[in-house]
Amino acid sequence: MQNRYRWGFLAALLVSSLALADTVVDGASITDEQQGANWLSFGRTYSEQRFSPLTAINVDNVKQLGLDWLLELPGERSLLSTPLVVDGMMYFTASYSVIYAVDLRSRQIAWTYDPKVLDAAGERARIFWDSNRGVAYWKGKVFVATGDGRLLAVDAKTGKQVWSAQTTDPTKPLYINGAPRAFRDKILIGNGGTEVGATRGYVTAYDAVTGEQAWRFYLVPGNPADGFEDETQAMAAKTWTGEWWKHGGGGNSWHGWTYDPEFNRIYIGTGNGSPWNRKIRSPDGGDNLFLCAIVALDADTGKYAWHYQTTPGETWDYNSNMDIVLADLSIDGKPVKALMHAPKNGFFYVIDRSTGKLISAEKIGKATWATHVDLKTGRPVEVPGARYEDGEELIYPGPFGVHNWHAMSFSPATGLAYLPILELPFVFTDKDEKPATWQSPSFELDPGVRFSPGDEVELKIDAAWLLAWDPVKQKEAWKVKLPGVWNPGTMTTAGSLVFEGRADGQLVAYRAQDGESLWTFDTKVGISAPPVTYEVDGKQYISLLVGWGGGGASAAGNVTAQHGWAYGVHPRRLLTFALDGTTALPPTPAPHLTQPVVQEDFKIDPQLADGGNTIYGRKCLICHGVGGVAGGYAPDLRESQVPLYLEALRDVVVNGSRHERGMPQFKELTDKDLTALQHYLRYQARAGAKAASK
Ligand code: CA
Repeated sequence: MQNRYRWGFLAALLVSSLALADTVVDGASITDEQQGANWLSFGRTYSEQRFSPLTAINVDNVKQLGLDWLLELPGERSLLSTPLVVDGMMYFTASYSVIYAVDLRSRQIAWTYDPKVLDAAGERARIFWDSNRGVAYWKGKVFVATGDGRLLAVDAKTGKQVWSAQTTDPTKPLYINGAPRAFRDKILIGNGGTEVGATRGYVTAYDAVTGEQAWRFYLVPGNPADGFEDETQAMAAKTWTGEWWKHGGGGNSWHGWTYDPEFNRIYIGTGNGSPWNRKIRSPDGGDNLFLCAIVALDADTGKYAWHYQTTPGETWDYNSNMDIVLADLSIDGKPVKALMHAPKNGFFYVIDRSTGKLISAEKIGKATWATHVDLKTGRPVEVPGARYEDGEELIYPGPFGVHNWHAMSFSPATGLAYLPILELPFVFTDKDEKPATWQSPSFELDPGVRFSPGDEVELKIDAAWLLAWDPVKQKEAWKVKLPGVWNPGTMTTAGSLVFEGRADGQLVAYRAQDGESLWTFDTKVGISAPPVTYEVDGKQYISLLVGWGGGGASAAGNVTAQHGWAYGVHPRRLLTFALDGTTALPPTPAPHLTQPVVQEDFKIDPQLADGGNTIYGRKCLICHGVGGVAGGYAPDLRESQVPLYLEALRDVVVNGSRHERGMPQFKELTDKDLTALQHYLRYQARAGAKAASK
């Protein structure tokens, strides 16, 4: 009898747990800030606050946090994804938009879905890297976007593709690395590409069930001769001069999408100009709407509601593609439906999202291009010379911004926003450009302006902080020094904690009120993804993907190479932490600093090396790094054996023998070009070896 009772009890438990495993992921559940068991959307809920109400792990016991289990992810490289958690299942993306579904009870991979991005992209793979920031989930389907421009719906249970929509014109240099957003049976996606061609940015919403296009909104106006799509485009066109459409205009939105259920609007963070240099893009000036702005659109129709432009007439790559975080704030004693945004340009904006009116804006880091934002006009007050109109100009920040795409979180408990910031100046000059005859590039890098750390400037390679910012006072609450510059996003909890990984591989928990470091775990590889927290069977866990990646890890050269997360050396993993977790991290190789091959008997021809520099800058730099110094995304070509032999170089670069490993084909390069690259790389290798021996 007792036995039967026991079995009955177990059966009831099983039934109740099955009944629990039935969350309908829709508008109501993604809006719900109170439930903490799941992490249903990119920023956890529609507010994008990345604030969890869970308190089991808190300031008093976080010292007992330990590694509970891990999953090895062999073959993966950049891991940037925010995992979603739905009823004990986790969904995240790894390299080239491969989706992993992980059963958090069995701790096994349930399925993977590979959209075969490199096959689909072919030679177009040269304009994007393997980066992808995650999936959306809506009513039983998982949605992912790809570097080659597709949006895909996959059945959450089986991992089988349901539909596929090509969201870009494959003849144009557009790519996607952002996580789609789901709302009202629609899936929204944008794209990037402003640096590699004449692009005209847009966002598109698709029907979640059928994959049919619901609406599209262009972020910059097209050629007036073709007729404008609507009055909004005609309005935007009044802020442009010259023949901007020949260069696309840009504005591409690759990140920074927030759905607001209270106003049924979607806020779009828009990109920089194409090209960056306004003298080329819009020669007689103009604000160039909707570059570097937040644009509010009706979520059902895509119709324009309002906009706020953070950098009018931008000319430095100061895009506004960063997170847009929603909160109810009390400002001057009045409740405000606020929106918070910290774009590249160095200011922190608080905006009334009911109207789009600016409430306040203050600097959160070093920004020398403007003195302040005039609250009467809502416009930045620029510093003379900042547009490099008088020749070379050293400007803070450079194109990496004060804040990049790494997630900002906000705690309603402390009233503070938590975000990684950095301080990297660049010298801008367009003295060698000819605006009147400048041609947009096609599938290679050329922003119409030269930018570099500059000869006389000591490049700062240790200038980053975790910043806690009070959006009401527009004041720093606390700040903690971080290593390097390329540090990942944050998460905060009702347990009064802030979690952030670091460029040097440490995962740290801070007290949310004052930034005191309470717990640290060495993951032994660079971290580029933000952590998430959730419950399985009532127990709180924290998970984090570890694996160095993203644009900064590839293109920033010494700044990111300093950590030693060299290509292909360190394992990629999903780590999961719990109170009293006791799992040991498996053996992991030490950081590897590049040993450039000097090759003493190689006679460098300076003219060839110079030509090689130009080719390298346009075709190789995006992945292999500034000056041949790889930050870890792709092999360091000063160390690689391949460039030592013309035949090997031709095989890899022209014939595409490493295509399946992500190395795109450059069929247009001649033996003369390859020889020039050899001379350039040997020159850089010697310079690197000399610097290292100092
Ligand atoms: Ca850009």
